[in-house]
Amino acid sequence: MMDPGTPLRSSQDDGEETAKPEPGPAAPAGSLTIVGLGPGPAQWLTPAAQAAIDAASDLIGYGPYLDRIPARDGQTKHASDNRVEIDRATHALQLAAAGKTVAVVSGGDPGVFAMAAAVFEALEAGEPAWLALPIAIEPGVTAMLAAAAKAGAPLGGDFCAISLSDNLKPWEVVTARLEAVLAADLVTCLYNPISKARPWQLRAALELAARHRDAQTPVIFARAVGRPDEALRILTLAEAIEAAATADMATLVIIGASSTRLIARPGDVAPYVYTPRSVTRSPCATSQGRT
Ligand code: SAH
Repeated sequence: MMDPGTPLRSSQDDGEETAKPEPGPAAPAGSLTIVGLGPGPAQWLTPAAQAAIDAASDLIGYGPYLDRIPARDGQTKHASDNRVEIDRATHALQLAAAGKTVAVVSGGDPGVFAMAAAVFEALEAGEPAWLALPIAIEPGVTAMLAAAAKAGAPLGGDFCAISLSDNLKPWEVVTARLEAVLAADLVTCLYNPISKARPWQLRAALELAARHRDAQTPVIFARAVGRPDEALRILTLAEAIEAAATADMATLVIIGASSTRLIARPGDVAPYVYTPRSVTRSPCATSQGRT
């Protein structure tokens, strides 16, 4: 085994010092960082994400996310609509290839239903020269972690995340995945639960959940977590079905597993919601199986 104190030899140390490397294509001077802003408040932005924002010559993102970042001299903001992610990603790659230090900003974590995948999609379809660009991702606190932290420990057992948006996948795929994870008794986090264009999907998803879970199963509607208009509602599954239309695009929904439960607290305060880490029964035994 190598002595941990022994420094690794670089390729220049292997007796080839005199051999000059073949000149390759000039590496572009620019770079691209995809930055997670967290759910909202500045204290949930990591120092590394802040440093990437500070270093950028160009910031790209959905307008409301860019608005969260104070303007500074010498930095250009390129705001765009929320529904043009691939165009935005392509623009970011073009700017980086032209030598800019680009930061693409995304709410929450950029890898969770967000810009990082859009950048890689644009990279895959784009100019071969872009492959030489340094691309980095700075993670952020994703909505389900922020929501879970407000409620207690609902993600203490196995869990999953599903986007209810059927903009990028057929609704049949969403329901097939929901069926599978509900049958497996996973805590299920629903991103993009509802929008003006998708008004009925959340209720349908919760009704599907009721075929696998008891009507008393805790369901969390966590709205605008970390922002001034934050609202956390802890409901039963039966109540959540009736309240589905009151959720909105700023809401993250967590459907408990069969073991997820509440701890009541004295006074007029919300109970804690938690899912124990230990599991003793198989999903087949815990699923209600009412299909
Ligand atoms: N990249 C983001 C998710 C983008 S999908 C992240 O990691 O959080 C957008 C969905 O995220 C919203 O429809 C909502 O379900 C959820 N969301 C984002 N910010 C939220 C917040 N502050 N509170 C509750 N849910 C939020």
